Amino acid sequence: MPTLDLDRISRLQKELVTRKIDAFFASTAISMGYLAGFYEGGYERFLVMAIPAKGEPALICPALSVTHAQSKGIKDIRGWRDGENAAPLFAKLVQQWKLHTAAADDDMPASYLLTMQETCPELRFVKGGDVIGELRRAKSKDELAKLRHAADVADKAQLELQRRIKPGMKESECAVIIRESMTKQGCSPTFCIVAAGAYGAEPHHATSDYVIKNNEVVIVDCGCLHEKYNSDTTRTFCVGKASDEARKVYEIVYRAYTAGCDAVRPGVPCEDVDAAARKVIEDAGYGEYFMHRTGHGIGVQGHEPPYIVKGSKAKLVVGQCFSVEPGIYLPGKFGVRIENIVSVGETGCDSLNCAPPPELIEIG
Ligand code: ZN
Ligand code: ZN
Repeated sequence: MPTLDLDRISRLQKELVTRKIDAFFASTAISMGYLAGFYEGGYERFLVMAIPAKGEPALICPALSVTHAQSKGIKDIRGWRDGENAAPLFAKLVQQWKLHTAAADDDMPASYLLTMQETCPELRFVKGGDVIGELRRAKSKDELAKLRHAADVADKAQLELQRRIKPGMKESECAVIIRESMTKQGCSPTFCIVAAGAYGAEPHHATSDYVIKNNEVVIVDCGCLHEKYNSDTTRTFCVGKASDEARKVYEIVYRAYTAGCDAVRPGVPCEDVDAAARKVIEDAGYGEYFMHRTGHGIGVQGHEPPYIVKGSKAKLVVGQCFSVEPGIYLPGKFGVRIENIVSVGETGCDSLNCAPPPELIEIG
């Protein structure tokens, strides 16, 4: 079982020193799990792991989580019971550590942050997502192996659906096939978007009971967790015969995907990968129909910084993992998206998912 990870804590502390931040407040199971193997969320109960720029971490936590926290090697635990108020514990910590500026987890519940702000109005808060994101950016060999396994499971689920899908099936039935395949392979499904026909033009369509018709284009975007690491992959295919327009649009998206991957090299700014993929779609005249960024980081979170988006100057580092997922969405008609997770290798792009087909697949 993972416990307090001193290497990760010390890398976080270096990041805090560089950014002139006095402490980091982690409050999500993902952050506290990453730093200390403490996979708990406090939900409505105030639960914060505080990491000072220098010194030992402390945990302000509900009494019912104290034993768990102790088992992770956290020494400074400040418990509170239901019916008591956690705010004075926080005020005391801020005073003891003489904090002026603190970074808070991006996904911290607003109720915690409001408690902190009301209790210590002098304390300045900054967003912590980039701070912890920086140390999670380059994946270790062990992390890469987990991401690769999660990607492989998602790939196999996609292929199983492609073997079984038929006109007359509901989007929701397709999602069940994906989820069951992932579960059978020992992973927990995290999400599955099945978007057929005109629904494919909505990038975040909520999978529905819509019945898939013959000759419709279908987008399937899905992911799962393997030992806390995520996968996320999208395939687009046609059930029946594809129209010329669908084939053409698919080929443009495929070329955009390839251009994005070809731009991947250590030292290249994230935004250049976005620009490379986008240029293909813009040059083909579909720029306005590619309304999202090209990708997002992935690891213990399904979406994490840095993002592959215009304005993201962060330079790619070896081991960084992110999605390359260009798309074209034609309202009222259909959508096409191709998404693989890639990692930055010494000399270029290394895909964790199997290669997407260069042409639109017609099933049946
Ligand atoms: Zn996706
Ligand atoms: Zn994605």
